[in-house]
Amino acid sequence: MGHCTSCGACCASYPVTFSRQELDSEAGGWVPSTLAEQGTILSRCAHMRGTRDQPRRCAALKGTIGVQVSCEIYAQRPSPCREFAQEADAGKGDNRCGDARRLHGLPPLAGSYDAFPL
Ligand code: SF4
Ligand code: SF4
Repeated sequence: MGHCTSCGACCASYPVTFSRQELDSEAGGWVPSTLAEQGTILSRCAHMRGTRDQPRRCAALKGTIGVQVSCEIYAQRPSPCREFAQEADAGKGDNRCGDARRLHGLPPLAGSYDAFPL
């Protein structure tokens, strides 16, 4: 099992904001609109539902953080999720991954804070 499927901390630590063009309600979009919040008609942004709430947790995240999780829209997740800490599942974290893990009481992966050791 990869590191991310036993974590999920980032999905409950950061706002997940992306272009409305990624919503499946738009031509060529793919992110389920039912799981997103949209701002005003003039706003170009959408947000994964739950990622601007307190406590913060993406509505698409299933399972228990730090134990076992899954993203119920993994193949349709928005671009910030695709770009986040891409080597973390294989065991190499970065600072944002490390911050999220610490926020949820998990130790940072190797690779986090290399430039600024704790
Ligand atoms: S990227 Fe980091 S914080 Fe996110 S699920 Fe993977 S290990 Fe956890
Ligand atoms: S869409 Fe999936 S990968 Fe992105 S924050 Fe939500 S649960 Fe995590």
